[in-house]
Amino acid sequence: MKKIKSEPYAIVQLGNAVLRKIAAEVENILAEECQQLISEMMSTVSQAGGVGIAAPQINHSVRIFIMCSKPNERYPDAPFMPPTAIINPEILHYSSDKIKGWEGCLSVPSMRGLVPRHSQIKVRYFDQQGQEQLKEFTGFIARIFQHELDHLNGLTFIDQLESTKDLISEVEWYQQFAFKKI
Ligand SMILES: [Zn+2]
Repeated sequence: MKKIKSEPYAIVQLGNAVLRKIAAEVENILAEECQQLISEMMSTVSQAGGVGIAAPQINHSVRIFIMCSKPNERYPDAPFMPPTAIINPEILHYSSDKIKGWEGCLSVPSMRGLVPRHSQIKVRYFDQQGQEQLKEFTGFIARIFQHELDHLNGLTFIDQLESTKDLISEVEWYQQFAFKKI
């Protein structure tokens, strides 16, 4: 029997009200509905070549995001991190310094922004099995966490820019910053 490739889930784009809502806490992580949403998010982010996706981006206003960093065409320098579901996340501590780095977003197509983020964070969240996790993240992983957590609070990376001059077209970004890409 021929295997039918599943359709990618539609990713909500900037301007949709769901991206501006404060997402609700997840009450029952082990519920089938929640587990199903997590697997939909994992397949959507991998098909889209993203390094993270938050539930509001597929039109579910709940506090879940996926981090799945690995080098790809969109992020040639990304470190490896297996797909990880982050549920009801909180940042417990931020380093005082902020570092600017390039970000894109599956809900903000064709643009890149130079976004200031705390370089180190201590976080608390629940994993897909409902276990509490306390972790420390630095660099690009800390950046993804802050970007995705913003989505649960109705913000996109554009809201974090210091200046509109830090927003550029993805075509220009590839030409100027991703020339190492083969
Ligand atoms: Zn995003």
